[in-house]
Amino acid sequence: MKFDTIIIGGGLAGLVSGIRLQENGHNCAIVSTGQSALHFSSGSFDLLGCLPDGTEVMNPLDAIGSLESSHPYRLVGLDAIKRYDKEFPAMMQRAGITLTGSASRNSYHFTPMGTMKRTWLTLEDFVTLDEPSHLPWHRVAIINFPGFLDFYTKFIADELEKQGATCVLATVKLPFIEKLRTNPTEMRSANIARTFDKTENIDMLLREIASYCKDVDAVVMPAVFGLSSAEPMKYLKQHLDKPLCPLATMPPSVPGIRMQQQLTHYFVRLGGTFMLGDTVERADVESGLVKAVYTANHADIPLMADHFILATGSFFSRGIIARPDSVYEPIFDLDVLYDADRTQWYDNDMFASQNYMKYGVITAPDFRAICKGETLSNLYAVGSVLSGHDALHEGCGGGVSIMSSMYVADGLLKNK
Ligand SMILES: Cc1cc2nc3c(=O)[nH]c(=O)nc-3n(C[C@H](O)[C@H](O)[C@H](O)COP(=O)(O)OP(=O)(O)OC[C@H]3O[C@@H](n4cnc5c(N)ncnc54)[C@H](O)[C@@H]3O)c2cc1C
Repeated sequence: MKFDTIIIGGGLAGLVSGIRLQENGHNCAIVSTGQSALHFSSGSFDLLGCLPDGTEVMNPLDAIGSLESSHPYRLVGLDAIKRYDKEFPAMMQRAGITLTGSASRNSYHFTPMGTMKRTWLTLEDFVTLDEPSHLPWHRVAIINFPGFLDFYTKFIADELEKQGATCVLATVKLPFIEKLRTNPTEMRSANIARTFDKTENIDMLLREIASYCKDVDAVVMPAVFGLSSAEPMKYLKQHLDKPLCPLATMPPSVPGIRMQQQLTHYFVRLGGTFMLGDTVERADVESGLVKAVYTANHADIPLMADHFILATGSFFSRGIIARPDSVYEPIFDLDVLYDADRTQWYDNDMFASQNYMKYGVITAPDFRAICKGETLSNLYAVGSVLSGHDALHEGCGGGVSIMSSMYVADGLLKNK
């Protein structure tokens, strides 16, 4: 099997590079083991919320120049980032995903605990604020389902009350959710979302919550609407006579799963090949050139391409793996940034920035991967497998995946 580009990993970074290439005439395959960080997504993409020294960032475009020269954003460059700030949401729109936000001004979105966090782009389902104190509601109803433990109404109420709101907490019993409840392991966001694929079930919910909605300015509910389409959420919003503020739940994330599905379907509609449930295990590399990769399902059948993109994620997706004394990249054995002294990997203060978050593969300035000091001419690394950024402390995870993928794809298209 021969493609223009083979992408290893079908999370945000793999899908963004695949769609960018496929939209511009490349013939791509994505090989992906399984779930990605999108399945845990908050529904927002962060660009830069904080500098490494802890300075809060409100305008990411202004702050990018203060990052170290090895940070993925510095490699992409400010001009490209400004361009992708416009082009990425437009690409997502073509995939059926509407995002709001701008790289020149972070907005605040709600976390599952009801706190507020700076972010770049947010799915249209969710509410964002200019400032945490600019809560537009005085009285809020927070509604949950009995037995749904991944939505913490009390914590959320505490946070909203800090911003001056009064909260009314309620749980509504619905027969189709009660059915799930007979087996507590079924009471997960994705299963609840499936029940709301039926419009009549949303109608029943609307009737049940009507009395709580009378005297409030907004209704907060878990984001458990629309697993494979945005329609259930739209329908609920249209028929509720108060503003709806859905909040992401503890994982799995229903809006995140939907985004993963929409991006995958769009990539396939563009003619891309998506090999889900397959894992790249090894590669043929000759004279600095990747010739082929081999997967678990295709055994000795080589998958060949002119270019390869590594988008296998960080520790979470096993794009890099920690041994007791080292960190390695498992497919190509690429050069990886990590501290040789294990005691430097982490800080005992759990809330401090952790060095291991910056570990990942080392690349040339154009994101070509490096193996034993030699730059491989046709293998690029994108997304959270990259070293030199701290997605958690800097609040830059989604942005690094998006920017590095768009940049690498554009580089390949230029040299077509
Ligand atoms: C739990 C979690 C939640 C996050 N939430 C957010 C958020 O809300 N907003 C935000 O901005 N950032 C968030 N981040 C940061 C996140 O890293 C990025 O936003 C981004 O989604 C990472 O995308 P990625 O494609 O680089 O990696 P991943 O999403 O990890 O995807 C890597 C993919 O590669 C596959 N893979 C791995 N090895 C192989 C192999 N050998 N062969 C084939 N496939 C392979 C995996 O199965 C996986 O599907 C989160 C991170 C985590 C870990």
